Amino acid sequence: MSNYRIQGETGEWEVVIGMEVHAQVTAKSKLFSGASTKFGAEPNSQVSIVDAAMPGMLPVPNKYVIEQGVKTGLGLNAKVNKTSVFARKNYFYADLPQGYQISQFEHPIVGEGVIEIDLPDGSTKNIGVTRMHLEQDAGKSVHDLHPSKSYVDLNRSGCALMEIVSEPDISSPDEATAYLSKLRMILRYLGTCDGNMEEGSMRADVNVSVRKPGAPLGTRAEVKNVNSLKAVSQAIEYEVQRQISLIEDGGEVVQETRLWDPNKLETRSMRSKEDAHDYRYFPDPDLLPLTLEDGLIERLQKELPELPDEKKHRFMNDFGLSLYDSSVLIAEQSRAQFFEDAAKGHDAKLTANWVINELLGARNKDGKALEDSPITAANLGGLVALIQDNTISGKIAKDVFALMYETGKAPDAIVEEKGLKQVTDTGAIEAIIDEVIAENPDNVEKYRSGKDKLFGFFVGQTMKKSQGKANPAIVNEILKKKLDV
Ligand code: ADP
Ligand code: MG
Repeated sequence: MSNYRIQGETGEWEVVIGMEVHAQVTAKSKLFSGASTKFGAEPNSQVSIVDAAMPGMLPVPNKYVIEQGVKTGLGLNAKVNKTSVFARKNYFYADLPQGYQISQFEHPIVGEGVIEIDLPDGSTKNIGVTRMHLEQDAGKSVHDLHPSKSYVDLNRSGCALMEIVSEPDISSPDEATAYLSKLRMILRYLGTCDGNMEEGSMRADVNVSVRKPGAPLGTRAEVKNVNSLKAVSQAIEYEVQRQISLIEDGGEVVQETRLWDPNKLETRSMRSKEDAHDYRYFPDPDLLPLTLEDGLIERLQKELPELPDEKKHRFMNDFGLSLYDSSVLIAEQSRAQFFEDAAKGHDAKLTANWVINELLGARNKDGKALEDSPITAANLGGLVALIQDNTISGKIAKDVFALMYETGKAPDAIVEEKGLKQVTDTGAIEAIIDEVIAENPDNVEKYRSGKDKLFGFFVGQTMKKSQGKANPAIVNEILKKKLDV
């Protein structure tokens, strides 16, 4: 149960949210045609006769896309239906040359599933997935190229989308963004959608309603065009306030589709909500019911990669990492792999610290991805090894790291070149300490007469004289011996 409550004039309100996410299937060609799906091509250069709805054309299901759908269902812990049916969803729009969208209605390819979301306080919650179906994307109308005309680009027409519908189990803006990020992470791990919200390959429709705690579900409004995690959270907050004020002022929420305006930070009415019967869905007579071949589900199940939650638990159990560190590392598959490669044979916790605090910090500062980092996983592991075997101190390691980042060189080479090896030779350290003691008779006096705090001063002086290279443990030991007489 969420304890997210909004205080209104008439008491507390609870928020109910359900999401419909459209995710473009990662595939070279479209759902029912061989035309390319590549993003950013010349308008209308990737349109087959099927996508342009030429008379007499016949759609042919793309086997790879269907498999991507099955994989997604398995990754969402959902029931995959061996038989599903493509249906026509009829409506008119300039960017929909067929006059209908081929979608799935009564018999989707994927049934009920569940997504575990991670909340900011470290807890988790299960959000039900109602269904996932495959459908065609529409083309794109372009209104801003000509003062009085609109253009249509059909490149996107017929690209495969997965529509993933959640149960109304989401109860706060935080849960909504956690749901979207976890869903996106799973799709990316599976390789079934690139999750790129800026390019529109993942888009969310957010259904929001409010109710008094424990009351039946209120009437929902559906907010479209919410294409970033931040916008999802802002749109929900706006919508909740609008609905509460409306009801408390004696009005009623109407079921409608609203549009999120990211500039004005508000939602506004777009059209009253159509019901399913307005689309006059019926099974597409051009397509047979889709029946998956025997063994396909089992084969794809076996080929599934390790998913984010499994990886997170393995990192915590096998490497002893904290929930926080594990969550940061598994956020991207390539990041998790980088960590595992770097940690091979070394202290995992120490490696995790260096990946998260130093390397990711530096990459974020540069606005760059981890993948093309100048420091390879093997070299970062090498740095950890040098700290572990006391060749360098943690402090010198930061300097070595900076040089590695700058030059791409291996840590051993830098340590060698710059003479940064930690001094563990007790004789050499003792000589430095003798100098420090000789140079500071006053402080020695004060220390010996009870000013214990001055011990740090001597450590500092010794480290400085050794250019940071003296082994701190040995320094402490010898200083104690020499001062405490
Ligand atoms: P439609 O296809 O007409 O949009 P669906 O039955 O597919 O309707 O539901 C759309 C979404 O609305 C689902 O994610 C569902 O969880 C959510 N939903 C249903 N009822 C409510 C409600 N009262 N408040 C918030 N969300 C809701
Ligand atoms: Mg809908």
